[in-house]
Amino acid sequence: MTKPVLLVIDDDPQVLAAVRRDLRTRYRESYTVVSASSGEQGLATLGELKARGDALAMVISDQRMPGMHGTEVLARSREVYPLARRVLLTAYADVDAAIRAINEAHLDHYLSKPWAPPEERLYPVVDDQLDAWQAEYLPEATGLRLVGHQWSPRSHAIKDFLAGNLVPYRWLDVERTPEARGLLDAAAVGVDDLPALFFEDGSVLRSPEPLQVAERLGRPLSAAYDVYDLVIVGAGPAGLAAAVYGASEGLQTVLLDRHAPGGQAGTSSRIENYLGFPTGVSGSELTRRAVTQAQRLGAEFLVPVEVTGVTMDAGYAHVRLSDGRALVTRSLLAATGMVYREHPAPGMSEFSGAGVYYGAATTEAAAFAGKRVVVVGGGNSAGQGAMYLSRYAADVQIVVRAESVRATMSQYLIEQIARTPNIRIRPGTEIARVEGSGHVERVAFASPDAGTIDVQDVDAVFVFIGTKPRSDWLPPDVLRDARGFVLTGRDLMAHADSARLWKQTREPLPLETSVPGVFAAGDLRASAMNRVASAVGEGSMVVRLVHEYLALT
Ligand SMILES: Cc1cc2nc3c(=O)[nH]c(=O)nc-3n(C[C@H](O)[C@H](O)[C@H](O)COP(=O)(O)OP(=O)(O)OC[C@H]3O[C@@H](n4cnc5c(N)ncnc54)[C@H](O)[C@@H]3O)c2cc1C
Repeated sequence: MTKPVLLVIDDDPQVLAAVRRDLRTRYRESYTVVSASSGEQGLATLGELKARGDALAMVISDQRMPGMHGTEVLARSREVYPLARRVLLTAYADVDAAIRAINEAHLDHYLSKPWAPPEERLYPVVDDQLDAWQAEYLPEATGLRLVGHQWSPRSHAIKDFLAGNLVPYRWLDVERTPEARGLLDAAAVGVDDLPALFFEDGSVLRSPEPLQVAERLGRPLSAAYDVYDLVIVGAGPAGLAAAVYGASEGLQTVLLDRHAPGGQAGTSSRIENYLGFPTGVSGSELTRRAVTQAQRLGAEFLVPVEVTGVTMDAGYAHVRLSDGRALVTRSLLAATGMVYREHPAPGMSEFSGAGVYYGAATTEAAAFAGKRVVVVGGGNSAGQGAMYLSRYAADVQIVVRAESVRATMSQYLIEQIARTPNIRIRPGTEIARVEGSGHVERVAFASPDAGTIDVQDVDAVFVFIGTKPRSDWLPPDVLRDARGFVLTGRDLMAHADSARLWKQTREPLPLETSVPGVFAAGDLRASAMNRVASAVGEGSMVVRLVHEYLALT
């Protein structure tokens, strides 16, 4: 198989030769370095590579070139190779312009010239970008292939599981991909067996559950120890941060998640406001880094494993799992976050997984290339979802009840949406019902103020509204507010039941719930900030508090 390509574009022959040399020195074993001396030539090279079926891992382009600027070349490269990492090469004086371009052209990084020594200023950036590309890239003819019907909720569940767990796979729609038929016939897989997951060694799982897929992929599903210092339930940003700190500070730590690491943040196409990522970072990329870090430091992961209840006994928490097993721990962190509520409009539940998706923009976007989609919600998650979908869909409508998204969406997203021609916002509008035969085909939009109903052909609806806490698995002694969010620290002492439940002579620690030794962090907590950074901050803080708690017992 041919090696993936690194394409370098610069009109200055000396700079071009220097980048080419430095890249070849380090990456020639695994990548082919190709160069072009102008933006136009770079685009032509991209076309040739695509025609030959070559994989492109990264484009590095200089910004200031006569004719086409680097940002334009990089933006256009995305149409040909959406997964390739895009890096802009700039002079120090152009750094401000490069940072602005990052927003507009969705670049992955910028590199300042000169980059000597490359060991410090070039290779760490390129290594990082190539790791991220490798995590997403799947060679055409190999790897996992999932064959199924686009409108099947079971297919959606497996896609969501594989994507959420960062397992690269190729989706083959049985009605649209000729290769799918060939695979099914060769393995005698019938239509009733779909979705079917084909492995590289030729074996196949027919209509599997996520748990079977996890087992087949060799994911550990049983706990390694009898008793833990810290069991973390929920592997969103709060749980992942706690796992990193817990493991690095010597606590026997295990992290459980019912679905996949990353939580809500893992479904985000681009988190722009997380400290230390000047070009933004996708939820899957942040998750990949966090999981690698936590595992390297010694945290144990059990995914997919659902926690259904907790019982306290002699200072130990017994954490019950949905398959009947239990884990015993000296302290527990509840970091199960929030989930979208079911949209109440008629047709929404009937077509869930068959054209109606809750927050699943990154999993399903590619299936709606050239189609008409609707995004419901006016928050940042809806805005990000719409931006991601606009890369594929022909038409994206954002439906919001309010008259404007100004109060609910960040300015940078409002500006990006305004600049994206295939997205429009429909203020003062609600979904009245969803219609179709077997899958979503039409949506009725209601404008209550105008008293009108407008029915349009639509292929999919992505819902990003209405959140509720996932706190139902916690024991009743864990106090919550009226909406079910968990009270911690001083907040819980204001609750009418606190005197009945809190029998310690000490005050609860910050982030400790009304059950001693049971902590809560992130979006699950009452008065949470609902941000990745605050969830990470709380998850990190908890470990210090767990040490304090364990020292008291
Ligand atoms: C699409 C989208 C985009 C966003 N963009 C941004 C952004 O740009 N910037 C920003 O700061 N914030 C953003 N947010 C908000 C941010 O993602 C959340 O605030 C953050 O993820 C909260 O983290 P958490 O760890 O508290 O919980 P969550 O992320 O909700 O994770 C909870 C985890 O618990 C697991 N779980 C639930 N119940 C159980 C159970 N019983 N057993 C086992 N596991 C369970 C779930 O599977 C999940 O993985 C976005 C949110 C969404 C949905």
